Amino acid sequence: MRIIIFGPPGAGKGTQAELISEEYGIPHLSTGEIFRSAIKNETPLGKEVKSILDAGDLVPDEKVVGLVEEELRDEKYEDGYVLDGFPRTVPQAKAFDEILDKKGKKLDAFLQLEVPEEELVDRILSRGEGRSDDTPEKVRNRLDVYRNETQPVLDYYQEQSVVIGINGVGSIEEISNRIKESLEK
Ligand code: AMP
Repeated sequence: MRIIIFGPPGAGKGTQAELISEEYGIPHLSTGEIFRSAIKNETPLGKEVKSILDAGDLVPDEKVVGLVEEELRDEKYEDGYVLDGFPRTVPQAKAFDEILDKKGKKLDAFLQLEVPEEELVDRILSRGEGRSDDTPEKVRNRLDVYRNETQPVLDYYQEQSVVIGINGVGSIEEISNRIKESLEK
């Protein structure tokens, strides 16, 4: 199964992607995690993207697309995966479609986690993950970036009729059950 998990910062994408990965035995690919790990290990990529992540801005499309394309060549992704944090712009979504086309593969589901905006800031500030982009000012910037750059990705996938809206308010388990039910329909 090839799944995209989509939603604003603080919606719980990472947590739910991890649970989907365990439930269906498919790898979880998080672009944000790739960047954070590169920064932690001070790799050339990490040095390149550190200030971008710190500000809550987006890494340029070509960079992200190149990285995802390269990563998906690994045979562990052959039978499916759950993408978290990608695609985050319409050009990334188009590039991802081309990657799928070239492989003759299709996207099975685009899960949109719906959480009211008022809840997002509180959730992020209280999750205490110690992320350098989890300060009030940076969270506001990430939400602005989401509204301007990322939300249009939803319209793009609406046209492909793969979007499944998931109520993202509730306990981790409740949300995970909603996801399972809708994937099994
Ligand atoms: P996330 O863990 O998905 O919240 O991502 C953390 C940060 O990594 C974002 O605020 C961006 O700076 C960067 N990032 C992650 N995925 C992407 C992407 N698909 N396109 C551009 N930047 C990204």
